[in-house]
Amino acid sequence: MGNIINGREISNNIKDEIRKYVKNGKSKVPKIVSILVGNDGGSIYYQNYQEKCSRDLGIDFEKIIVDETTDEKNLEDIVLKLNNDDNVDGIMLLLPLPKHIDEKRITNLISYKKDLDCLSDVSIGRFYKGEKSFIPCTPYSVITLLKRSNVELLGKHVVIIGRSNIVGKPLIQMFLNENSTVTVCHSKTNNLKEITKCADILVVAIGKPKFIDDSYVKEDAIVIDVGTSNVDGQITGDVDFDKVVSKASMISKVPGGVGALTTVLLFKNLCEGLK
Ligand code: NAP
Repeated sequence: MGNIINGREISNNIKDEIRKYVKNGKSKVPKIVSILVGNDGGSIYYQNYQEKCSRDLGIDFEKIIVDETTDEKNLEDIVLKLNNDDNVDGIMLLLPLPKHIDEKRITNLISYKKDLDCLSDVSIGRFYKGEKSFIPCTPYSVITLLKRSNVELLGKHVVIIGRSNIVGKPLIQMFLNENSTVTVCHSKTNNLKEITKCADILVVAIGKPKFIDDSYVKEDAIVIDVGTSNVDGQITGDVDFDKVVSKASMISKVPGGVGALTTVLLFKNLCEGLK
């Protein structure tokens, strides 16, 4: 039976570290501004959740809610003003934006120094070049789960299934930074099983519930499940946990794994800011 990597416990430890950092008072209390345009239900929920977490951690939080009919110039002015406001340390822009707004242009206006979600091309470019930038939170969560579980990454063969811009691709860079050897698989990969069975560490980010069973996993491998699909109202991972848990040496769960850390890592990003 593999050890279960407990994302909630790791998240609580990071929360304690952030609270200590904020209370310590060596630098000013960090401030986040979160911008919501329109009334997308998911975004409203997420913004409220961000606010709750900020308050819990002692971080200053300001909500800006902009009417759905706003024009692009207004949004541009808001972002530029926040970029120039020395009291603001992090900007979060909830996506998607309404269709009449050029989302790419607006996200690219956010200064990389405040781009907590690493949305702009400059932030992403700096991230890939190894220059100072905020770190995309979902891949950061994968690496954090492993490191805080004392998993040695150096020299390990990591197989990532999934090559999206928000998960798979940044993970390649992050594992390379840790001196792992990385193989990436996707929907056009031939002989997927043969490749995944070579993995010391298998990271699955495909969005297909319970797709990976024990036949894809090497004995004693470490398995990290990024997937979150809604199956009959239940958040379900890409890994068939019950089948894989006895074969893996360590495994993360869904829920309670990668997803348990992503928001708290946003705030960790903020405290480790770039200013
Ligand atoms: P995505 O953009 O849809 O990408 C999915 C990737 O999986 C693609 O690269 C795709 O290959 C690959 N894929 C799909 N079917 C496959 C198959 N049968 N065999 C091998 N590869 C396959 O998804 P995403 O945004 O990266 O998200 C992936 C999962 O992670 C989703 O369940 C999402 O909800 C979850 N997620 C969770 C969090 C969190 O906080 N826990 C955050 C972000 C995402 P192609 O490139 O060839 O199409």
